[in-house]
Amino acid sequence: MEIAEDAILVVVELAPDGEPAASAAGLLGAADAVGTPVALVVAPAERHGALAAAVAALGAETVLLAAPTGDPALLTVPTVDALAAAYALVQPDAVLVSNSVEGRDAAGRFTARAGLAIAVDAVGVSRDELGIVAHHSVYGGAYTVDSAVTFGAPVITLRQGAVEHRAQPRPVTSRVLDVESSGAPAAVVESFEATSGATSRPDLRGAARVVAGGRGLGSEEGFALVGRLADALGAAVGASRAAVDAGYVPAAHQVGQTGVSVSPQLYVALGISGAVQHRVGMQTAKTIVAINKDAAAPIFEIADFGVVGDVFTVVPQLIAALEARRP
Ligand code: FAD
Repeated sequence: MEIAEDAILVVVELAPDGEPAASAAGLLGAADAVGTPVALVVAPAERHGALAAAVAALGAETVLLAAPTGDPALLTVPTVDALAAAYALVQPDAVLVSNSVEGRDAAGRFTARAGLAIAVDAVGVSRDELGIVAHHSVYGGAYTVDSAVTFGAPVITLRQGAVEHRAQPRPVTSRVLDVESSGAPAAVVESFEATSGATSRPDLRGAARVVAGGRGLGSEEGFALVGRLADALGAAVGASRAAVDAGYVPAAHQVGQTGVSVSPQLYVALGISGAVQHRVGMQTAKTIVAINKDAAAPIFEIADFGVVGDVFTVVPQLIAALEARRP
């Protein structure tokens, strides 16, 4: 099996249901735009066939498959062991990893182990004559900066939802990697408790559409309006920290500096003033719609479309209009 000279090694994370995580399509798309995507999947051997097909369908030219090394309760180290083996085989021009909690953990450990350099929370990548360049949106989206490394291949964590390009499906070419356990110290999962209930709404991270609510919703009951608009749009629910602190919605929905960063196609902000700590988590959204009764609210400075009005008057009309258009 030949590995392309311009290979970009992509670490594909798995969702809790065992399928490739939503971030995989964007990572493979980004890799495809600057080279030849080679994917690494760490999963039990009995899942290898199905996962190789699923990842090739997302555009991987080659899928490297590794069974987790060591104790199955070990966190991160099995992925880093597999990544080290894949890196040695592929000699890629860059390594792309999701900027998720797990992805950052694995990317950081691998970078330190391999003596490489890391660029975190990129919103895009490109190639110049010297190699792969990562693009970052910083200071609340006020600046775009580029980073590149002066030695080795860069390890880049990519913000979920930030890359629109998708790779064409490719025929399945896979190879099972022989991975030795490094025996490196690792945290171990002793027990866990599921904290979120089942929901039919998309996951906030990586969602194509997000409807977020702030203190302007006034109460937990008032915040239900955010969920109603989200359902009408097929969107995920986000929130400002003020809404979380007031107990309108669980902390997992918080968008911003101390919450989740999102880059959806559409971000609708309801009763959110637009503090810089909120903007930093959503300013790279492609289209921003704001509804706020204060025409001077800073959110309007970055909104593509704005409605000055009371959310409890405007949003029910919006939902009715969306429902009327539904076939
Ligand atoms: P407010 O600023 O109180 O704004 C409410 C808005 O609702 C106002 O603009 C008002 O005009 C409007 N409104 C009120 N009633 C209505 C109505 N009926 N119809 C329409 N509009 C209405 N914030 C985050 O969001 N995420 C973070 O991760 C985050 N991290 C932080 C980290 C640090 C270190 C610090 C210091 C702060 C952080 N914050 C964060 C808090 C941030 O500074 C703001 O306080 C917060 O974002 C404000 O939330 P808000 O816009 O919902 O509330």
